[in-house]
Amino acid sequence: MSTYKLVCPHCHGRMRIRTSEGKHIFLRIAYLQCQNEACGWTVRAEFEMTHEMSPSGMANPAIKLPVADVAQRRAAMATDTDQPDLLDQLEVEATSI
Ligand SMILES: [Zn+2]
Repeated sequence: MSTYKLVCPHCHGRMRIRTSEGKHIFLRIAYLQCQNEACGWTVRAEFEMTHEMSPSGMANPAIKLPVADVAQRRAAMATDTDQPDLLDQLEVEATSI
C-alpha cells in the first residue's frame, strides 16, 4: 500500500488540506495549499460521495446513493489504494473545525 500525496500541478510539491467544510452529507469542500514555500499555490477542491460500492452494515434509510454500475466497479478495482488516505486527511480536518 502506498501513501497518497496530493501533488501540486505547478511545482509537483506536496500539498496539504488547510481547511475543509461540509456542504452536504455527500459533499465536502477543501482548500489545499502547496507546501513548497517558493510556490505556495492554493486551490479549492471538492470531494463528493457519488455511488455506493458496497452496502452499509448499519444502513440509514435516509442515506440514498445510486449503486455503482459495472464500469464504475471495474474502475475502482483498477485504482490503487491511494484514495482512502486522502479521505482520512479530510476526516482529520473535519474533526478540528
Ligand atoms: Zn506548488
